Amino acid sequence: MDHLLREKFGVYRCDGFGICRGGYHFKVSPCPMFVGSDGFESHTPRGVITIARGILEGSLAYTKEIADLVYRCTMCGNCRLLCGAEYEDGGPMIDPAGVLLAMRADLVENSLVPPPVRDFFKNVHRYGNPFGEPAEERGKWGEGLGLEEYEDHDYLFYVGCEGSYDERGKRMAVALSRLMALGGVSFGILGEKELCEGNEVRMSGETGLFQWLADRLVLRFTERGVRRIVTLSPHAYNAFRNDYPALAGGCEVVHYTQLLRDLLRAGRLRPLRELGARVTYHDPCFLGRRNEEYDAPREILRALQGADLIEMPRTREDSLCCGGGGGNFFTDMLGGGENSPSRMRVREAHGTGAQVLVVACPVCAKMFEDAAAAEGLDGALAVRDVSEVLLQCCSG
Ligand code: SF4
Ligand code: SF4
Repeated sequence: MDHLLREKFGVYRCDGFGICRGGYHFKVSPCPMFVGSDGFESHTPRGVITIARGILEGSLAYTKEIADLVYRCTMCGNCRLLCGAEYEDGGPMIDPAGVLLAMRADLVENSLVPPPVRDFFKNVHRYGNPFGEPAEERGKWGEGLGLEEYEDHDYLFYVGCEGSYDERGKRMAVALSRLMALGGVSFGILGEKELCEGNEVRMSGETGLFQWLADRLVLRFTERGVRRIVTLSPHAYNAFRNDYPALAGGCEVVHYTQLLRDLLRAGRLRPLRELGARVTYHDPCFLGRRNEEYDAPREILRALQGADLIEMPRTREDSLCCGGGGGNFFTDMLGGGENSPSRMRVREAHGTGAQVLVVACPVCAKMFEDAAAAEGLDGALAVRDVSEVLLQCCSG
């Protein structure tokens, strides 16, 4: 329990008031680990801190049940924000997700991770992506688009695993490529030389595998002299921005919504066609809460003619996670039941009267598209990505 020991101060500073459960802010819990569970206290952030205390004091030991619980967390960061206990410099005094992350690292070291998590790690290690697909297939999504391999372009487009292999993510990658071409952006891709950036690996507690990926990817960036990266996924944006110290200072990293916003401001994209739809926007955890970018996607949506933006009750830093973070997109430790976060969220989106749920992350896109189908909302609520709606208004 070496990793948990390092979180000891946070564990013992918790006063147990349970603000992280969010019970009096919302009618439902803001914690994806808790929603859809049997409702026991153990499934709340506060409950996990109590379990951590038991492990530190020797009254509890890591078990299969604890491992299954710990891997339900999506690392959405909502509990840390709600707790709000901070040092004077603004650093978190108590971070339940940080405690969960330390427990995951202990479980990895003790070979106690649940089988779906073990398979996720195996695929990333063996194939360089969690889908278990061959590296040669990685750049196939862009065939026919005339994309160039990165050389000395202004931007490296880091597509990521979902954009490269998942059908929903691929559609986003194509739409973004078309928009960048329309806006005259000089960009290239790595194709089969691209590798998983490892955000979900790190968030699943496998720090050794994360470092292995990061070392290889940074080498590929530096060999090619990459100075600017645009990412499709907020998860990759988070990793490059916060967890790739070798990139710090040497490379500018932007999320694609920030690049598209700048192209609109500069008049390099002109959305002249009307969208003609009521839309609502879902803040992805790794773009919003974890990196505080709430405005770029909204600025884009407000620039669209005939796009009536209606906010959901839980928005910006209060956004409810889609349920796909922290490795759950691949391991499905939460399942897709009626009270899963993704299905709760599409009901919330539909309840605003919006016809389109706009997302800015390939994980959210897939989670919500599946959830909307499961809710029988096909035809009533379309799930579209920011670049897809913008492209619709710019092209033709
Ligand atoms: S983590 Fe923070 S909000 Fe939650 S019970 Fe502990 S002190 Fe309270
Ligand atoms: S990070 Fe999110 S899912 Fe994990 S305990 Fe906190 S609120 Fe729950």
